[in-house]
Amino acid sequence: MIATKAYAAKAASAPLAPFQLERQDVGPNDIQIEIQYCGVCHSDIHQVRDEWGGSKFPMVPGHEIVGKIIKVGDAVTKFKVGETAGIGCFVDSCRHCPSCLAGEEQYCDFGMVGTYNSRYKDGTPTYGGYSDQIVVDENYALHISDKLPLEGVAPLLCAGITTYSPLMTWKIGKGHKIAVVGLGGLGHMAVKFGVALGAEVTVLSTSASKKEDALKLGAHHFVVTKNEDEVKEVANTFDFILNTISAQHEYDFYLQMLKLDGTMVLVGIPPEAPQVSAFNLIGKRRRLAGSMIGGIKETQEMLDYCAENGIVSDVEVINIDYINEAYERMLKNDVRYRFVIDMSSLK
Ligand code: NAP
Ligand code: ZN
Ligand code: ZN
Repeated sequence: MIATKAYAAKAASAPLAPFQLERQDVGPNDIQIEIQYCGVCHSDIHQVRDEWGGSKFPMVPGHEIVGKIIKVGDAVTKFKVGETAGIGCFVDSCRHCPSCLAGEEQYCDFGMVGTYNSRYKDGTPTYGGYSDQIVVDENYALHISDKLPLEGVAPLLCAGITTYSPLMTWKIGKGHKIAVVGLGGLGHMAVKFGVALGAEVTVLSTSASKKEDALKLGAHHFVVTKNEDEVKEVANTFDFILNTISAQHEYDFYLQMLKLDGTMVLVGIPPEAPQVSAFNLIGKRRRLAGSMIGGIKETQEMLDYCAENGIVSDVEVINIDYINEAYERMLKNDVRYRFVIDMSSLK
C-alpha cells in the first residue's frame, strides 16, 4: 500500500482537515500520479455536506486532477513516467455495457466508479484529488498537453467536459443563440466553449457585478435575471440554454426564454427536486434535458481542443489549508471562476 497525505471530511457537518490514507499498489495496468493541482467543484460541496444523500465518510473530495506520472505498471502502454496526466470524475466502470462500449463510461449501466465518494469493484472506498497522489487504471486517465498552464487545465477535467459535452451533443455552433445560466466554474467554461464554437452567447446571471467579466470571456450579451425588463426582452429567443445553477430555482423562469423547439440542458444539480409546468414545454414544443460530465474519449477530445485553441479555466490558486474558506466563498458566488488547490501546499 502507498501512504498518501490528504484532506478529508469525517462527517457531513465537519470541516475538511488533514487525513492519511493508503492507496492500492500500482497494478500491471495502473499509473501512479503525483498530484500537482486539483480543482474545487461545487459537487465537492454538495457531497461533503451530504446534500444529495448517501455520502460516504471519511470523504476526500476532488475530481479535477492533474499531475506527473511517477510510476507505471508492467502492462501499461498509453503512458510513460514523467508525462503529465489528468483524472476526472470516475476511475472505473463495468467496461462491457452499451454505454461503456460506446466510450460513454459516465452512463455505465452498472454505475461508474466515482473518483471519490464511491467504491472500487472490490468494495474499498475511493478517495479523490485533495491528496498528494493517486493510482488509476491507465484506461481512465487522460493525456495532458504541456502547452497550457497546468493550474488552468485542472478544472477542464470536470467543469470543462461537463459544458463541452452537451454543446457537442446538441451540435452548437454558428447561427445558434445560446444562453449560459450561472457564471461560476461550469458557466465560465460554457461561455468560452460557446464563443469558440461560433454561437451567439448570452449570460443569464443573478450577479450584476459579473457583467464585465462575462463580456471579457467573450459573451455577446449579459442579462441580470433580477431585472424584469432585461428578462422580458429575451423571452422566446434562445435555441439552447445550458443551466449550471447549483441551488434551488424555478426551471420555468428559464424555459420561457426558449424559442420553438429550443432545449434547456440541466448540468447543475440542486439537491431539491424540480417543478416544471407542462404548459411551458408544450406551448413551444420545448425540451428539457440533462447531461453528465463526458466519457474518456470525449474528455480527451476536449483537452486536445483546449490545447489547440488556448482554452483554460480562469483560476484562483489556493493552498489546501484554505479549502474550508474557499467553500464558504463559493456559496456566496465569490470566486472568479474556479478555485484550484496547489497540492505542493500539502507536503
Ligand atoms: P459554482 O462555481 O458555485 O457556480 C454556480 C453558479 O450558479 C453561481 O456562480 C451563480 O452564478 C449561480 N447560482 C448560485 N446560486 C444560485 C441561485 N440560488 N439562483 C440562481 N443562480 C444561482 O458551481 P459549479 O462548480 O459551476 O457547479 C454548478 C452545478 O453543476 C453544481 O450543482 C454541481 O454539482 C453541478 N455539476 C454537475 C456536473 C454534471 O456532470 N452534470 C458536473 C459538475 C458539476 P451567478 O452569480 O452568475 O448567478
Ligand atoms: Zn465536478
Ligand atoms: Zn458499463
